[in-house]
Amino acid sequence: MNISENIQKIKKDLPTGVDLVAVSKTQPHSKIKEAYDSGHKIFGENKVQELNEKYEKLPKDIRWHMIGHLQTNKVKYIAPFIDLIHAVDSEKLLKEIDKRAFQNNRKIDCLLQIHIATENTKFGFSENEANKILLRKEEYKNVNIRGLMGMATFTNNNIQIKEEFDYLSNIYNKYKDLNTLSMGMSGDYKIAIKSGSTMVRIGSTIFGARNY
Ligand SMILES: *Cc1c(COP(=O)(O)O)cnc(C)c1O
Repeated sequence: MNISENIQKIKKDLPTGVDLVAVSKTQPHSKIKEAYDSGHKIFGENKVQELNEKYEKLPKDIRWHMIGHLQTNKVKYIAPFIDLIHAVDSEKLLKEIDKRAFQNNRKIDCLLQIHIATENTKFGFSENEANKILLRKEEYKNVNIRGLMGMATFTNNNIQIKEEFDYLSNIYNKYKDLNTLSMGMSGDYKIAIKSGSTMVRIGSTIFGARNY
């Protein structure tokens, strides 16, 4: 398992304009440092406490992305440094991010999570709900809603996965002022790219299987 080789291999296949988020959740600092030393700077985490510990200990020029469900009461812990919040799934959360961004004298980049999977456990807005927010996005002065994020159903059915990504991509393409479409993980990022993803979130293909 060579982390830097894995990253190079993935990057070689990514079309220009598609960014790679190395999903480092549950991975030790040493593995993140290895990826960092090979030149990669964008890492994704899904737990606020773990994210904070890593932010404290690892190089300050790492761009940390929060990719998981974010609880409103935890926004304050990541507001000072977070580079992108992928999974905004309620207006309450958006308001809180706006407030904490203001307190930290910064503007925080966010994506709205759209529910595209058939599982009802996955969070996210419907197209309609997202539309209502996007029409009023200027009201959130300290938030920059850059785009959309989605997770396909966990299935081997590639046709279904492609349909779900295409559905999200069609929504994304209706908004000319968005520039980030976050979709695709280790198992489905090649499909996501075919559907127009601009940001893939890859963990196990880079770092190996996670030990929870
Ligand atoms: C864990 C996770 C990933 C990465 O998953 P892999 O299958 O390891 O690539 C991507 N996105 C989200 C939201 C995740 O929680």
